[in-house]
Amino acid sequence: MIEEKFDAIVVGAGMAGNAAALTMFKRGLKVLQLERGEYAGSKNVQGAILYSEMLEKLIPDFREDAPLERHLVEQRFWMMDDRSHVGLHYRSDDFNEQRPNRYTIIRAQFDKWFSKKVQETGAVVLCETTVVELVKDQFGKVIGVRTDRAGGLVRADVVVIAEGVTGLLGTRAGLRDIPKPENVALAVKEMHFLPRETIEARFNLKGDEGTVIEAAGTISRGMTGMGFIYANKECISLGIGCLVSDFQKTGEAPYDLIERFKRHPSVAPLIEGSEVKEYSAHLIPEGGFKAIPKLYGDGWVVVGDAAQLNNAIHREGSNLAMTSGRIAGEAIFQLKRRRKAMTEENLALYKQMLDKSFVIKDLKKYKDMPALLHTQSQSFFLTYPQLVSRAMQNFVRVDGTPKVEKEKTTIRAFVSARSWLGLFADGFRLARAWR
Ligand SMILES: Cc1cc2nc3c(=O)[nH]c(=O)nc-3n(C[C@H](O)[C@H](O)[C@H](O)COP(=O)(O)OP(=O)(O)OC[C@H]3O[C@@H](n4cnc5c(N)ncnc54)[C@H](O)[C@@H]3O)c2cc1C
Repeated sequence: MIEEKFDAIVVGAGMAGNAAALTMFKRGLKVLQLERGEYAGSKNVQGAILYSEMLEKLIPDFREDAPLERHLVEQRFWMMDDRSHVGLHYRSDDFNEQRPNRYTIIRAQFDKWFSKKVQETGAVVLCETTVVELVKDQFGKVIGVRTDRAGGLVRADVVVIAEGVTGLLGTRAGLRDIPKPENVALAVKEMHFLPRETIEARFNLKGDEGTVIEAAGTISRGMTGMGFIYANKECISLGIGCLVSDFQKTGEAPYDLIERFKRHPSVAPLIEGSEVKEYSAHLIPEGGFKAIPKLYGDGWVVVGDAAQLNNAIHREGSNLAMTSGRIAGEAIFQLKRRRKAMTEENLALYKQMLDKSFVIKDLKKYKDMPALLHTQSQSFFLTYPQLVSRAMQNFVRVDGTPKVEKEKTTIRAFVSARSWLGLFADGFRLARAWR
């Protein structure tokens, strides 16, 4: 193992780690990046939507050679009951722009490419190297890491912890608590392969246009969770995730959920005849603002999923990871340039910079949402989707019933399910958590 001391060690070569490493390498810092996977991306799972703006800040010309699947021209939101869905679709030709705003990607390929970009700057990136411990001095300052390689102690002024959601290193070192089951979702995902033309016909796409569907409702059996269907070039990513605490409470099995999701009459025709080549499961941090642990200390900062920086409401994670990684890299560079030590006091700069970014502002905006969705999951993920579906069917079915009668039936159904007070309270709670 390498004997020399580094300016910074980055643990992990996911979105956050690569962003941090690239930022620091580009500014001339001596950085070592360690990844336990066989290659960057080999351990990573994501839907996945990539948000261009955040990547452009790191690699402005990424569109030239990044492994991108489709650029998104359409987003669909489905509220589902067992036999139907009520949808909100937004499609715009504006998204057929020169520098598209969002793409679907396949993480294993993308992370490999991202890591290559980091390595092209001359960085030392060691894969198949697991960091087993954050090493501290007698004052509690993190001074390096121990890896699973022989003689595996490596020293650095600062360690950027980009180890993802499970965050074992941080937990073991006492830097944060184990994430609570109500703050993490377990998602399962499958890749369904189909000929390109079939995907384009089924999703009404041409060329590299893409569409994504985010789905909520009875598919999660009253648990807090969502499903997704993303069209790639020659495959469809399909998955569903729910809070770990809800799985514990209900005893539901993730593979049952995904099987039921696939059999839903709105979903089955989209994947009919496909060949499933990949099945994976992964955690997603969903506790939001209130679940963010301490972000910095003597000799360390934490970024991305390891810091619970994930916006479950907007289904955004990789962009928060890239942004927090980049900001951590910039903060460390600024301290180095000013010859400041990597103390807790000085590394507070990372938090100050992050607070000013969309990352913390967005998470703060939805700070009450995770608790609301968690405590009211039966209403929001079971009762309302069923009521809305029945209301829609009542509205569109032409059967000679006067419209006034139809309206009364719908209102009666809502009131008998939730009561007037309950409906008002749900609306009020939702509006307050959304503001
Ligand atoms: C099913 C699913 C769908 C998703 N869809 C989307 C989406 O569409 N859009 C979006 O923006 N986000 C999405 N996300 C969230 C997104 O994947 C994460 O927010 C993002 O990957 C976080 O990046 P990260 O670098 O913090 O962590 P990760 O990507 O998890 O990377 C952590 C890295 O650290 C390595 N590592 C861990 N421990 C060690 C160790 N001890 N030593 C060395 N290396 C270590 C891991 O191998 C891994 O490579 C999704 C997540 C899931 C699970």
